[in-house]
Amino acid sequence: DRQELLARTRTQIRRQRFQERLRDNYERSLAMALTDSLTGLYNRRYLTAHMAALIERMGESGKPLAILMFDIDFFKQINDTHGHAVGDEVLVELSRRVVHNVRSVDTVARLGGEEFIVVMPDTEEPVASTVAERLRANVAKDPFRVRGCDDEALEITISVGAAMFEPGRDSVDSVIKKADDALYEAKRSGRNKTVGWTETGFTTLGAGAARAPRALSCAMAASTSSTSSTSRSSASAASRARPTASCSSRTTSIRQAPPAASAPRRISSAASPNGRPRGCVSQM
Ligand code: GH3
Ligand code: MG
Ligand code: MG
Repeated sequence: DRQELLARTRTQIRRQRFQERLRDNYERSLAMALTDSLTGLYNRRYLTAHMAALIERMGESGKPLAILMFDIDFFKQINDTHGHAVGDEVLVELSRRVVHNVRSVDTVARLGGEEFIVVMPDTEEPVASTVAERLRANVAKDPFRVRGCDDEALEITISVGAAMFEPGRDSVDSVIKKADDALYEAKRSGRNKTVGWTETGFTTLGAGAARAPRALSCAMAASTSSTSSTSRSSASAASRARPTASCSSRTTSIRQAPPAASAPRRISSAASPNGRPRGCVSQM
């Protein structure tokens, strides 16, 4: 009868809704397990699985695989000066730019903190080098406008390490290590720089203007080791003792050899009365 039909229909609807909720929850947990919630990029877990699959496929096709690793320069100072929320906005804007700068078959992942990887299948070394340097230059070219920074923009730079996967010699971990070593060579030798890993050492693929830091408020506790060699051993040492920034006070003097590139600067987007950009309002 009518009552029974109604009751059954209600039960049916309830069941369906329950199943939809289950499916939503499943999809959400899957996304959470594989992506980074701040930037929406893939996370390290997804990246390693994806690379392992690519490498297996590559063994059959013989096509080259390139990876780029990059890290924001002086990011701690951005947080220290503008707050964590602005730091987060920088991470989101950077992720957006990177995704726009690579092909859809390339995978961009956030490894953690302010460190990222791009995996580029079917990519020869010269192309990888071009993409790596284009990425660095693109980030440095246009200051970041982020919410929470009023009408000001932040000059952000990244350092990039590039490496090719060598079939029969590399694993997921070893090719990541090569890119990481190249990245830390870029940091060690000045930042805002793109460095490639090669059999015999490192090669500089491009670098931004290395400005002498003006009235640095944050003494950079960068490594003072003045080795100019670009041999792998020196970079490995540098990566063990990664340079760290310390912001104790705005008037701290430079205690150690300053890095070649300048720290992120906050610049006003508004032109000054004389028509020139106001430029370096405050050095972080
Ligand atoms: P370098 O040029 O050598 O890379 O120096 P750095 O200051 O960028 O590097 P360091 O490793 O000293 O600092 C990284 C900072 O990134 C410290 C940490 O608080 C910040 N950080 C890590 N994850 C997040 C995040 O999700 N959001 C924000 N806002 N900051 C983060
Ligand atoms: Mg950094
Ligand atoms: Mg880092």
